[in-house]
Amino acid sequence: GGEVRFEGVRFDYDGKRPILKGLDFTVPAGRTLAIVGPSGAGKSTIARLLFRFYDVTDGAIRIDGQDIRTVSQASLRRAIGIVPQDTVLFNDTIGYNIAYGRPDADPETIAEAAQLAQIAPFVEQLPDGYDTMVGERGLKLSGGEKQRVAIARTIVKDPPILLLDEATSALDTHTERDIQAALERVSQGRTTLMVAHRLSTVVGADEILVLDRGEIVERGRHAELLARN
Ligand code: ADP
Ligand code: ADP
Repeated sequence: GGEVRFEGVRFDYDGKRPILKGLDFTVPAGRTLAIVGPSGAGKSTIARLLFRFYDVTDGAIRIDGQDIRTVSQASLRRAIGIVPQDTVLFNDTIGYNIAYGRPDADPETIAEAAQLAQIAPFVEQLPDGYDTMVGERGLKLSGGEKQRVAIARTIVKDPPILLLDEATSALDTHTERDIQAALERVSQGRTTLMVAHRLSTVVGADEILVLDRGEIVERGRHAELLARN
């Protein structure tokens, strides 16, 4: 994995209201950093900046020391795998959805990833909403199953950096635990930045930052934060 570093990152959407007010943190290569905080704190904005949906207003984001503004969009997108809160599926087979981002992936790789993510029985199927001219209907996947598709996609893509943006927050508690365990396996060996609103979902992180209104108000490991609060 590559090292991800935020250096004095400030950001606003409109040139007026500051959203991120000078963030400094490093995710060492292969480690997991979690950012937790209430809704509106700026967590998703951090994720959007790392993927360069927006550029920082001030400061810099670096991957292995290189300012991401000097990295091509294509290689940035190759380097980072994202598991969002709700995975949106394309109107094609689940297998195609898993291969998305790696159109050159061979069927064996896709099958293996589907197996690891425990979504293998669905690979040949079409997602819900798919309506062919012959009247074929798609399969309705649950939230957990859609996250498994996203996990399989990540395994195929094999990026050094993983961005988990509220990846389990739309799931019921039982499914959440299941998907969390799968995400922990897939994050092994990758630099992982995870964003969540509850401390209980980021137990395994190497470091946790508590974000409030665009500022880091606490940092530590899970047990340390629990002991202090
Ligand atoms: P979180 O993920 O912690 O809930 P966000 O990063 O989504 O927080 O939002 C942080 C702040 O930025 C909020 O006040 C939100 O209203 C604002 N915000 C988010 N997206 C936009 C946008 N596209 N334009 C303007 N303001 C935004
Ligand atoms: P190896 O034996 O070569 O280490 P693994 O079977 O451990 O391979 O896993 C290969 C990749 O898939 C690793 O990135 C691992 O973290 C991930 N992985 C393993 N099991 C699962 C699972 N059940 N769900 C999601 N990802 C998994």
